[in-house]
Amino acid sequence: MAEVIKLFQYNTLGALMAGLYDGSLTIEELLEHGDLGIGTLDSIDGELIVLDGKAYQAKGSGDQPEVVEVPLDAKVPYAAVVPHQAEVIFRQRFEMTDKELEDRIESYYDGVNLFRSIKIKGRFKKMHVRMIPKSSTDRKFADVATMQPEYAIENISGTIVGIWTPEMFHGVSVAGYHLHFLSDDLTFGGHVMDFIIEDGLVEVGPVDQLDQRFPVQDRHYLFAKLNVDEMKEDIEKAE
Ligand SMILES: [Zn+2]
Repeated sequence: MAEVIKLFQYNTLGALMAGLYDGSLTIEELLEHGDLGIGTLDSIDGELIVLDGKAYQAKGSGDQPEVVEVPLDAKVPYAAVVPHQAEVIFRQRFEMTDKELEDRIESYYDGVNLFRSIKIKGRFKKMHVRMIPKSSTDRKFADVATMQPEYAIENISGTIVGIWTPEMFHGVSVAGYHLHFLSDDLTFGGHVMDFIIEDGLVEVGPVDQLDQRFPVQDRHYLFAKLNVDEMKEDIEKAE
């Protein structure tokens, strides 16, 4: 039987939206479940980028983003990783906006009800990212998200990693694309807002199973009263 590719998700984006920011899973354990993915760090301290089995953190700091490799004992409140295996690979040889490239990627999907892993390595004429700023638990994510530093850079080489989520799982994660970027020189990265690709290699990977892990020892999570409608709206606003 073919190998079952599992998307490992720790906690839900909805819980994060409700203000549950305490990290409770180590990077070491997270990386056992996949080599590509996204997430955030304890106290929503910036954006987590998992590329080729290594974890990086992009934080806003003044005029420049700051990118560091994350130690294995750091903890995450929310993350999604997958052992990425390219199923569709194509070369993007001419300039496209993010929306145009996303349409091209989706033209290779079999229907819209499966998760997919995305990896785009290339040269970008423009890359626009943001980072969630560190916050204490119980401040609503949508409020913190109004104060996110944003950065744009021109002519940069790097890799976009992330997950495409079917509409029916909106709330567990964000429906559609959730993409993070890391430059080849490890100096620029974050949550992707928009971009213009110049040329690059696009990989789309299958997901056969969702492995949804919960923070079973986090009292904040266990007893949180979640307003599901508000949560879904907040995800749309903030992501
Ligand atoms: Zn993100």
